[in-house]
Amino acid sequence: MELTPVTDLPEIRPGDDLAELIADRAGDDLESADVLTVASTVVSKAEGRTADLEDYPVSGRAQEIADRIEDVAGEEKDPRFAQAVLEESTELLIEAPFLLTETRFGHITVNAGIDRSNVPDHDLLLLPERPGESAERIRRGLEDLGLSDVAVVVTDTCGRPFRHGQRGVAIGWAGMPASRDWRGERDRDGRELGVTVQSVVDELAAAANLVTGEGADGTPAVVVRDWDFGDLEGSDELFRSVEDDLVRKALREWEFD
Ligand code: GDP
Ligand code: MN
Ligand code: MN
Ligand code: MN
Repeated sequence: MELTPVTDLPEIRPGDDLAELIADRAGDDLESADVLTVASTVVSKAEGRTADLEDYPVSGRAQEIADRIEDVAGEEKDPRFAQAVLEESTELLIEAPFLLTETRFGHITVNAGIDRSNVPDHDLLLLPERPGESAERIRRGLEDLGLSDVAVVVTDTCGRPFRHGQRGVAIGWAGMPASRDWRGERDRDGRELGVTVQSVVDELAAAANLVTGEGADGTPAVVVRDWDFGDLEGSDELFRSVEDDLVRKALREWEFD
């Protein structure tokens, strides 16, 4: 398997056609049946998902939240930022000392994934509204350019519970299942696997994130070549439902002070 960054992409503007921009620059580095990962940052920029703090009149709830959260980078404590997070979220899982929320498309992340890095001219960059549909649009755009069967994974950099550090995860995908189901397969001793469903879109996102970097590299798109999903059954379940999520249930019982 080989990962190749797409180089020379410009600063992405609202309305930009990512499929075309990427295909133009990738040349032979992007072929049919490859996987293309795209950082959500540029998907959001292309979709015009920028915002400014002044767009968010502060509710009482946002003020209350902002008064309790830790000021990590200057803007988190701004009640307008808390308001933006509330508006992008369907549930608050943790309210203090930071905001952990569920986005409308089911992804759970800090501050609803609202980003303040790599956003010129605006205060905030919101996540794509429906990243699965964004991935599908890019995939269809590539198809129109003669690149058939390219799977597309939209990524974001996220923290994780229990471990320090952030890593790339998939927030939207098209053209391949999210997971590979190993249940019923056998290990080296013949024992049947009972629980392993491998989240391949997250693994591809993490690998690609090694190549994109997190700063000024300017490489939001990565081509993955010679990786094959194989013959196992696929599944598109990535985000757990509440009923199915013990940690989330425990957080619902948690008293914030
Ligand atoms: P996120 O993980 O989706 O939040 O995205 P990051 O902010 O970590 O950026 C991922 C990669 O995309 C980094 O290499 C950035 O330098 C690059 N990047 C971000 N915005 C742009 C852009 O508008 N144009 C280009 N060419 N690269 C960008
Ligand atoms: Mn970012
Ligand atoms: Mn991000
Ligand atoms: Mn990142």
